[in-house]
Amino acid sequence: MSETIEKIKCLIIGSGPAGYTAAIYAARANMFPVLYQGTEPGGQLTTTTDVENYPGYPDGISGPEMMIEFQNQAKRFDTDVRDGWITKVDFSGDVHKVWINETKEIHCDTVIISTGASAKYLGLESEQKYLKLGGGVSACAICDGFFYRGQEVVIVGAGDSACEEAHYLSKLCTKVTMLVRRDAFRASKIMEARVKNTKNIEILFNMNTVEVLGDGVGVTGVRAKNNVTGKVIDIPATGFFLAIGHIPNTDIFKDFLELDETGYIINVPGTSKTNIEGVFVSGDAADHVYRQAVTAAGTGCMAALDSERYLAAKEATVEKV
Ligand code: NDP
Repeated sequence: MSETIEKIKCLIIGSGPAGYTAAIYAARANMFPVLYQGTEPGGQLTTTTDVENYPGYPDGISGPEMMIEFQNQAKRFDTDVRDGWITKVDFSGDVHKVWINETKEIHCDTVIISTGASAKYLGLESEQKYLKLGGGVSACAICDGFFYRGQEVVIVGAGDSACEEAHYLSKLCTKVTMLVRRDAFRASKIMEARVKNTKNIEILFNMNTVEVLGDGVGVTGVRAKNNVTGKVIDIPATGFFLAIGHIPNTDIFKDFLELDETGYIINVPGTSKTNIEGVFVSGDAADHVYRQAVTAAGTGCMAALDSERYLAAKEATVEKV
């Protein structure tokens, strides 16, 4: 507990596309960024198989490989990439205080939060098995839908995301079965109407997923049970999509930063600024709408530029005094 306090100019929390892009820009602006990777180095993309929608990779690239490339690029400009995660922050004063692994204390001029969000899964053993195998389980239809062109898929959820993703999948797949756990949608009426009016989307209400069926390599179907009648059915499918919400990784900031009702950090529109001067946010920690690697990278760039301008303005004020 008695380690010396380290002072740094720019701390970046998180190692997904947002964090590494912020690091590349901050390093090239001589802000000597220190980036803590967090509990899931590389972020959500490390649970994706192939990324085919990130510009600049015409042949696609695997999610983990892509994140190694992001990291290498950040290191090339001397970003100090460290293991460890932030367990506590204190943004109440001029200096932003942050604790690493409960012990090491760091004082930062600027902080860029890129802690992302985690997709919710059902937690079934079979779901996790095929997720880890990269064999047909996904929480991002926009990322992975393309791999299921001309095939039948199942999607779980009944919110706006589920409707949007089911509709997206319906344009690629021959059939989309939506499993809704209640007898009603949570989504807005317009989104509900959209899926209801799409011919190749079948909506099954009062349905719980019992098991993701597979052949040991990939998904072959989904076993679901009607929670009113008790009837169990097997639905043939090669893809099993989850759209049951995300949890932004923002809990440690809640005493200082303004969050919306779901926990996303509220940024000043059109910027990466939070309600605390010198603390910026990028990526999915503030974005429940787009959630793409490329949009996260874009906001990472914004956060580095906003940090640089904040520091420059602060230094100019000090010089005047
Ligand atoms: P939501 O929390 O709105 O919906 C989650 C859905 O998943 C609900 O239907 C819920 O069921 C269901 N669900 C949760 N857990 C389980 C489970 N274990 N088994 C089966 N079903 C489950 O999340 P979204 O990601 O859809 O949306 C998050 C926010 O983002 C919302 O405010 C939404 O409006 C917004 N959004 C806006 C968009 C837009 O404007 N274009 C697009 C996407 C999202 P139940 O209803 O029974 O609780």
